[in-house]
Amino acid sequence: MTFASLGLIDPLLRTLEALAYHEPTPVQKQAIPAVLAGRDLMAAAQTGTGKTAGFALPILHRLTMAGTVAPQSVRCLVLVPTRELAEQVYDSFRTYGRNVPLRYFVAYGGVPIEPQVNKLRKGLDVLVATPGRLLDLLRQEAIRFESLQTLVLDEADRMLDLGFSHDLDLLFMAMPKPRQTLLFSATFSDAIRSMAKGLLNNPVEIQVSPRNTATKTVKQWLIPTDKKRKPELFLHLMKKLRWGQVLVFVKTRKGVEQLVQMLLEEGITADAIHGDKPQPARLRALDRFKTAQVQVLVATDVAARGLDIEALPQVVNFDLPTVAEDYVHRIGRTGRAGATGEAVSLVCADEVGLLAAIEKLTGQVIPREEEPGFEADHRVPATGGASAAKPATAAGKKKRPFTGPPGGKAALAAGGGQRPAAPAAARKPSSPSGGPKAGSKAGPKAGPVGTAVPRGAIIVAGGRGAKSLARSAGKAAAGGAGGGQRKARTGGRGPAR
Ligand code: AMP
Repeated sequence: MTFASLGLIDPLLRTLEALAYHEPTPVQKQAIPAVLAGRDLMAAAQTGTGKTAGFALPILHRLTMAGTVAPQSVRCLVLVPTRELAEQVYDSFRTYGRNVPLRYFVAYGGVPIEPQVNKLRKGLDVLVATPGRLLDLLRQEAIRFESLQTLVLDEADRMLDLGFSHDLDLLFMAMPKPRQTLLFSATFSDAIRSMAKGLLNNPVEIQVSPRNTATKTVKQWLIPTDKKRKPELFLHLMKKLRWGQVLVFVKTRKGVEQLVQMLLEEGITADAIHGDKPQPARLRALDRFKTAQVQVLVATDVAARGLDIEALPQVVNFDLPTVAEDYVHRIGRTGRAGATGEAVSLVCADEVGLLAAIEKLTGQVIPREEEPGFEADHRVPATGGASAAKPATAAGKKKRPFTGPPGGKAALAAGGGQRPAAPAAARKPSSPSGGPKAGSKAGPKAGPVGTAVPRGAIIVAGGRGAKSLARSAGKAAAGGAGGGQRKARTGGRGPAR
């Protein structure tokens, strides 16, 4: 199947040719015809499957073929959970739409609102936004939804996880109905399904990967160890397995900073992405990582989704995520577009409950491999189906020495696996910042335990701007409001405003 056979207009086909997209991915094959036909869509598709082009291309097609923009209006709205994803989706629209005469913009919180208000004056064909900032723009009457034709909810499950449910409800109320609504989510929780019920009209359902199954091309394994030894173990693995660029997930912001500090002290270039960092610093860190100026990017889960980093071979879960679905998203950063990748988790006894939840969700047991010298004093209990996993030890006897991830031996035989670590003296500094510094072995203390926030548990009392919203809703097209759920709730502002 070709993109041309899907009926996309020539300017888009020219762009795809230039991008060397020769064939639609499975999600694109299903989504493009449905969106072109004006259908609603409910798609279970992970980042890395080509889902962005799956909705952007047919939207660009339809916007180009008909209609014009009115001042302060927007024809297509894409809601995303994080600033990083907002930038990325916006970039995709600009890339895919570079040969069509449409106007795109991106709006998220953490940066001044005034330039965004100005940009909206002339109206837009496509606005990519995070829910909190969009709500602020709506309250300031900087944007109107009367001409909204298509609403896309990208990574909808993540938006709920981040506490955007209340903001979303207010936005839906202000949107006209009828409209086309496309809902993308890596996983479909019950909360998502119930949201979809209220929003979607007879949607085409697409499922390109089995429910909650981690990307198949990613080799996963875990190393049981003690919490306090994780920094040291991470450093040891980096050197022993000669990791190139690594994306590392740490539970707390403080833990992220501590790990970055330790790596810098060891002469390893590293940068951090987490919610305490201002947006320009987060984008800079991502850019430095993408352009290989830094070897290690350490992130909280705010970065777990939407990061499209080509050919990233290694993801490390320094801490397991508190929300099991985030594991799937984290490891989805590697093994993209058919490439193979590896995801290793450093797991301590405290995390056994999180591990069990992840294994239950993904329906697979993560193979365990002990690393000699780093065995856990506080044993990590076997998880539900752990009998299916390779036992870490047999009757108190130490298991064979760690030889790398599953498949490592075969890879070694083929000459492509891990080589033994070079002697310390022969090790080259991994980055332009210089070689390992003498001294500090004082790694971070094991990351402090973050506050586990159960789904939907972020509650901030107060219904901001109810009046102006009611006004906006009233201005929406006749037949008007009513797209969303309208349960009375106390809602919260999401952290990614
Ligand atoms: P996404 O899942 O939308 O984040 O896309 C993942 C990656 O796949 C991006 O780097 C896209 O540029 C790339 N991609 C999307 N569709 C195709 C395609 N049909 N052929 C080749 N690469 C693609």
